[in-house]
Amino acid sequence: MSSYRVAELLHEGKAKRVFATDRPDLVAIEFKDDATAFNAQKKAQLQGKGALNCRISALIFEHLRAAGVPTHYLGIDGERWMLVRPVRIVPVEVVVRNLAAGSLCRQLPIAPGSELDPPLLDLYYKDDALGDPLLTEARLQRLELLTEPQRQRLEQLAFAINAALISLFDRCDLQLVDFKVELGFTADGELVLADEISPDTCRLWDRGQSDSNDRILDKDRFRQDLGGVIEAYGEVLKRVQGVCPEASIYG
Ligand code: UDP
Repeated sequence: MSSYRVAELLHEGKAKRVFATDRPDLVAIEFKDDATAFNAQKKAQLQGKGALNCRISALIFEHLRAAGVPTHYLGIDGERWMLVRPVRIVPVEVVVRNLAAGSLCRQLPIAPGSELDPPLLDLYYKDDALGDPLLTEARLQRLELLTEPQRQRLEQLAFAINAALISLFDRCDLQLVDFKVELGFTADGELVLADEISPDTCRLWDRGQSDSNDRILDKDRFRQDLGGVIEAYGEVLKRVQGVCPEASIYG
């Protein structure tokens, strides 16, 4: 049994707290019940959301690891704690879109629900004060956030994650509309998937529902005041549990 003790708070985000531990190779993430949208202009407490996202994320990370995607994930401990490898997060939000939704349809004349084939990859600079602006290739170069080979690797990983997620969610009768991931560098310079993958960070539509509101099983229920947020996240967990083995307990 690898034991550890939670130490100082390293970072508090909108949905998670990140803690150091007494081991340099281990970081502990606590998933909170706080829900935010529209750059935290809309806020609520949704009891049980942290535990649901922790469990869903863990199962998805295990599926991705089995599919050959390197991740920071090591295991879970209790209902809302995830143990991960320490990484230096790249301040870039990587969004992959299979169907048009959200900001894409607000910013461009593309009808919601249009199929995007090949999938569209958008990079945003992760900075709440600036409103996470869209990055162009030239802006990315100017910020010197990634070398060209690192950018290529990041995009390759994003598409590999998309392919593995589509195959997972297909088996759950869920359509993966789009998702956001964050990546980070480990101490030995490997670029790995970090953060979380959950209904907070993916758009997921129930293939069994034709109604455009009833089919939503993700944070759009909160953004659009549709109600039933926790029930929807619970449904996603139930379906993912149906096709994935149980998440491993750390240690
Ligand atoms: N997303 C996220 N965090 C963000 C912005 C977006 O997890 O800060 C996710 C969002 O849930 C969706 C995808 O990334 O699954 C694409 O979001 P979009 O750019 O359409 O922005 P939105 O419409 O959510 O403002």
